[in-house]
Order: sequence, then C-alpha cells, then structure tokens
Amino acid sequence: MTARNIDGNALAAQVREELARRAAELTAAGVQPCLAVILVGEDPASAVYVRNKVAACEKAGFRSLRFAFPADVAPEVVFGKLAELNADASVHGILVQLPLPPQFDADQVLEAISPEKDVDGFHAENFGLLLQGRKSFYPCTPWGVMKMLDSENVPIKGAEAVVIGRSNIVGKPMAVMLLARGATVTVCHSQTKDLAFHTRRADIVVAAVGRANFLTGDMIKPGAVVIDVGINRGADGKLCGDVDFASAREVASLITPVPGGVGPMTITMLLANTVESAQRALDARRSV
Ligand code: NDP
Repeated sequence: MTARNIDGNALAAQVREELARRAAELTAAGVQPCLAVILVGEDPASAVYVRNKVAACEKAGFRSLRFAFPADVAPEVVFGKLAELNADASVHGILVQLPLPPQFDADQVLEAISPEKDVDGFHAENFGLLLQGRKSFYPCTPWGVMKMLDSENVPIKGAEAVVIGRSNIVGKPMAVMLLARGATVTVCHSQTKDLAFHTRRADIVVAAVGRANFLTGDMIKPGAVVIDVGINRGADGKLCGDVDFASAREVASLITPVPGGVGPMTITMLLANTVESAQRALDARRSV
C-alpha cells in the first residue's frame, strides 16, 4: 500500500478563504480582527514563524501588530506591553513567540495574556476548559490536526490513537482532543518502554517528538493514518518531520508530508481563533 498525502497547503487555503470572508464581514460590522505578535530575541526560526503569521493575517484581511524586543530585554517591559495589549479593545489575539530567553518564565508570560485573547490556546484557563470539554481557544497545532483528520473523514470514535510526545503545546492537548472525540488514546514519551508496541496497534499515530525520521514504517500498522507534527532539519539541511516518510508511506493509508502538512494548518487555526475572538468582541458589543 502507498499512502495518500493529506495536503495541508490545500486544506489551509480552503479554510483561510472562509476566514477571510468572515474577517471582511466583521470588518464591515466595525470589528476588524487584529492579532498582536511579540517576538523576543533574534532566533532565526522564531523570526520566520512570526513573519509567516503576520503575512497570513494580512492576506486574510486582518490587522496585525508586531512587537520585537532584544534578547536582553527586561521581563517587565514585555509584561508592560502585554498589559497594554490586554487592555486594548481593538486587539483580539495576542501571542508571544516561544522559546523565550532565559530571564523569562514562559508559563508566567503565557499566564499574563488575557484568556479572552489567548489565541494560541496556551493559557492554563483555556487548557483547563479544553480538559473539561468546555469551549475554549483550542491550541492551534492539535486543532489543525483534527481538521486534517476530519477533512479525510478519518473515523476517530473507537479508534486506537497513539500520540508520541507530551508537551503542553502539542502532545497533551492532541491527546485530549482525540479523547474528546471518542478515540482510545495512548500517550508515549521519552520514558515509554516499548514505543513500537504501542505504535504498531494504532489506527492513528501522531508524532510530535522533534527528532528527524524517528517513526519508521516498521513501527506502523498497515493502513494506519500517520500525522507528522515534527519540524526538523535533516542531515542534508532540508526540512523534515518526525516520520521517516519514505518507509511510512509504504505502510500507512494516509500521511501528512513535511513541509506542506501540519505546519500550514497551525497558522490557519491561529487565524480561526483570532476571528472567533473578534466575533466574541462584536457579540459582546451588540449585547450591551
Ligand atoms: P517538545 O520537545 O516540547 O516535546 C517533545 C516530546 O517528545 C516530549 O514529550 C518527549 O518526551 C518526547 N520524546 C523525546 N524523545 C522521545 C523518544 N525517544 N521516544 C518517545 N518520545 C520522545 O516538542 P514540541 O511538542 O514542542 O514539538 C514537537 C515537534 O513538533 C518539534 O519538531 C516541533 O518543532 C514541532 N512543532 C511543529 C508545529 C507545527 O506547526 N507543525 C507546531 C509546534 C511544534 P518527554 O516529555 O519524556 O521528554
């Protein structure tokens, strides 16, 4: 069997078209969706991510604000900017690009973003709501993965799902979202004793490890759906995922490529959360 690709670029374009339409409607009603992005330091990958997010906003007709601080900025300066953006009614989404330099406690920074503007879905309040199955801003990467599974009508209810990785931004919320949809979920991590034992019985495998070509075809059940969240540089300097694409595609039924898979959906769901926040702002204004 040779797997079919789930095309993240095509799905992202389709969802973004709809979001641009909603943004135009909101703008016409007096609430132009606005995302504020904070970048601290000179990490080149972070700079690229921020540039892509700002460009995606502008293309969809959002307003975007970008604030860049030097790596040695005092935390109070960034907290001051967050307080200002929290109080600014014209701003609907705020994100701080991670990682942050060592003088910052990332959790503290994320908690300083108003939960109503936490379009990355990283605030403890939103994560708690997600855990309880209540409405929140969903973290963008796992939400994008759910959209990709749904776009292919992948059965989730009753499926065996294995998530490799337990980070707060990908692995854990991914597991919670699959669980909420009725999958039987196993979460694997660096202490897992026999990873392949788990992955070989999975109908859906999500790899969010951060290690190039980590999940190989022999670790995958024939016909499984393989989602590759990883973004790594291979030995040849090229972008690659956590999945060994060449061997995995010979076994899986559906697979996400890197690049062009989960990455474009992550930014798309950030736009979706920002539109949702702007919609809530408009609804609140109308109900006064
Ligand atoms: P983290 O480094 O925070 O988490 C990695 C996880 O992988 C950890 O839970 C770790 O386990 C686990 N792990 C490490 N080694 C092994 C191993 N040998 N066996 C099993 N599990 C292992 O990374 P993130 O979750 O932030 O990101 C994961 C990947 O996804 C990265 O490549 C990142 O660049 C990419 N990413 C891509 C996005 C996109 O839009 N496509 C968005 C966000 C991230 P433990 O907890 O025990 O240490």
